[in-house]
Amino acid sequence: MPTSTRPDLLLPAEPGQRALARELYALVARLPIISPHGHVDPALLAEDQPFPDPSQLLIVPDHYVTRMLFSQGVLPAELGVPTRDGTAVETDGRRIWRRFAEHWHLFRGTPSRLWLEQTLTGVFDVETRLTPRTADEVYDALSAKLAEPDFRPRSLFERFNIEVLATTESPLDDLGRHAKLAADGWGGPGGRVVTTFRPDNVVDLDFDDWSANVDRLGEIAGEDTGTYAGYLAALRSRRAAFIAAGATSSDHGHPTARTLDLGADAVTLFDRARRGAAQPGDAEAFRAHMLLEFARMSLDDGLVMQLHPGAVRNHNRWLHARHGRDVGGDIPQVTEYVHALAPLLDAYGNDPRLRVVLYTLDEDTFTRELAPLAGGYAALLLGAPWWFLDSPEVLRRFRETVTETAGFYNTAGFVDDTRAFCSIPVRHDVARRIDAGFLARLVAEHRLGMDEAAETIVDLAYRLPKQVFKFGESS
Ligand SMILES: [Zn+2]
Repeated sequence: MPTSTRPDLLLPAEPGQRALARELYALVARLPIISPHGHVDPALLAEDQPFPDPSQLLIVPDHYVTRMLFSQGVLPAELGVPTRDGTAVETDGRRIWRRFAEHWHLFRGTPSRLWLEQTLTGVFDVETRLTPRTADEVYDALSAKLAEPDFRPRSLFERFNIEVLATTESPLDDLGRHAKLAADGWGGPGGRVVTTFRPDNVVDLDFDDWSANVDRLGEIAGEDTGTYAGYLAALRSRRAAFIAAGATSSDHGHPTARTLDLGADAVTLFDRARRGAAQPGDAEAFRAHMLLEFARMSLDDGLVMQLHPGAVRNHNRWLHARHGRDVGGDIPQVTEYVHALAPLLDAYGNDPRLRVVLYTLDEDTFTRELAPLAGGYAALLLGAPWWFLDSPEVLRRFRETVTETAGFYNTAGFVDDTRAFCSIPVRHDVARRIDAGFLARLVAEHRLGMDEAAETIVDLAYRLPKQVFKFGESS
């Protein structure tokens, strides 16, 4: 959904390159959206109920927004962020919206400002500029739209021109929402809404409830997860169930990129952890080992592996204690890939049947580590800049720093990785505009013909993500 009011948004300022970029962007502006990785709640699309008030839609679940306000003294509870112990928080959507509008200036220069502005104008047709004085006017206009049938989730999905959207579920999820979507003709293999296999809560010993989760995994899969062999069998069986629900990939969110083959020691470590006697280092070793196990499973069942390392979870302990996980308290750390991935790459890196999409929160690794790795191993592809890096400036730097070593075709296309359903169109639009600007420069510098740039931008926006994530292959 390109913006009508700012046609040259994010395109190069230099007139010659801008003209080229406009031509390239026009080729992809209206292409369908492929969204292979994100965190939209599948219940939203399965139930297709109207969204609640504008604040519950746009502010409360968006930790990019609430963390910025928190950094300037507005407490999450004042913004309606739920508490772990059930302590009351603000529930009045209008009051939350007013607080947000009073602090709107804090978002100047940030991608959140761009996403929200483009969501208001592009999705809701609200052109009034947000200020503390217009807060009520904007809130009322948004509320009125949300009451219309055209603003229900499935209608928006159609309007956003999403061809396929992957959500993310744990192996403990019964996939009931995806079954409902499949029954309604929206899900299942090759469907418009599919799931992703995200096993962190049954792999990572640092999760408080790891052992209970592994028990539950055994119950759901009908396997004895008291033994390591039964645990692997249960994981295989849940992957099969996910594939039957349309999954084409798995996702692994680890603190580091470390991989390791423990061999027979895996059994000893697993047994120790199940007895509650894990030793220091066991959690990291087991996570690392399981990436090799999952690579082996991928060779059998074809799931694409996504690896998302580098976040120090719950760094803000006050925030975690009061409000739990995924509320803006995570911080990126230095991430090393070359040595960390060596065991996995030694075993399977040259096998083109394996497909590993690598992400980073550490942009220092783009040129030094990630581009050379993806440019040298058949199994590796680079995922789009992620989370703290999913901004116009870093999307641009990503192309500038990886293309000369990895080319365009060792990258996997854009992922929005978002919980905010209404921000999906603008996030993809931003990536397409940045790619148009980058390719326009290559054309202006006589490094690429316009015909090649035109083919490349369509590949980046549409063909590559579809092919890399195997959409349209299943039946
Ligand atoms: Zn994610």
